[in-house]
Amino acid sequence: MTGVVGRFAPSPTGPLHFGSVVTAVASYVDVHAQGGQWLLRIDDVDLPRIERGATAGILTTLEALSLPWDGQVIYQSARGAAYAEALAKLEARQLIYRCQCSRKTIGPRAYPGTCRAKRLRGDGACLAWRVKVDDEPVVVDDVVQGRYAQQLASHCGDFVLRRADGVYAYHLATVVDDAWSGVTQVTRGSDLLESTPRQIHLQRLLGLPTPRYAHLPVVLDTHGDKLSKQTHAPAVTPANAATAMFHALAFLGLAPPPESLGADCGQLLAWALPRWSLAAIEPAARAYALPA
Ligand code: GLU
Repeated sequence: MTGVVGRFAPSPTGPLHFGSVVTAVASYVDVHAQGGQWLLRIDDVDLPRIERGATAGILTTLEALSLPWDGQVIYQSARGAAYAEALAKLEARQLIYRCQCSRKTIGPRAYPGTCRAKRLRGDGACLAWRVKVDDEPVVVDDVVQGRYAQQLASHCGDFVLRRADGVYAYHLATVVDDAWSGVTQVTRGSDLLESTPRQIHLQRLLGLPTPRYAHLPVVLDTHGDKLSKQTHAPAVTPANAATAMFHALAFLGLAPPPESLGADCGQLLAWALPRWSLAAIEPAARAYALPA
């Protein structure tokens, strides 16, 4: 045991696609190259967005990719008590406040703190909870993307930790769970780099450690859009797992020999492990089409 712990945390809003496989493979190989543990967390906190059957499909595809996770799968839907406890800690120190503003009244700008001084009361029904931010820049020293700094006050303002409908925000859930499960390394898509300062802010307020961050280049489709369910990214399933594995390694800067295309995923991973280097990853987002 090296104490290195990584995780893959898909949202079960649909099947895995090539972009999610790139993230899974990179985080798996990176922790295994360091003799660490790789956890699987299903980010199903936002129940209305969840697609029936998606979690089962994700687990089956990870098995077909030869990416076994350590320990039990962690389900965010079962972790509400931990999120409530974190919120209560912040409330006791007056670091959060209730907010009645709707997204419509705020618009796309940073939240101007309208409800900060209102001291709204109530048991939370119909009111969101926001955490206070300040104007000190928060710096992320990302292993792949380099240094990234953001001033939360102008970027987003005081941000939501629990929505008015009672759903805990991704930022709170991920910070609480990463710390609870002992995650030391977060390896995920670069679309989440701009979320990281909010997560570091929460870690500091809650007295939690900040993991090492590695934000991988996002995979784009031929229109320049991030692969996602919304952009109809093709699914990776057990049927095309070996092809996806080969191309994920190629996207990540390794050059698997052409004759290994279609080879067993376990063999490809064994080939990749001793060659793995985060430094070989080209940081910029780019298009990559998985052959049909
Ligand atoms: N569940 C998030 C997603 O699928 C990723 C969370 C994370 O890696 O922090 O986009």
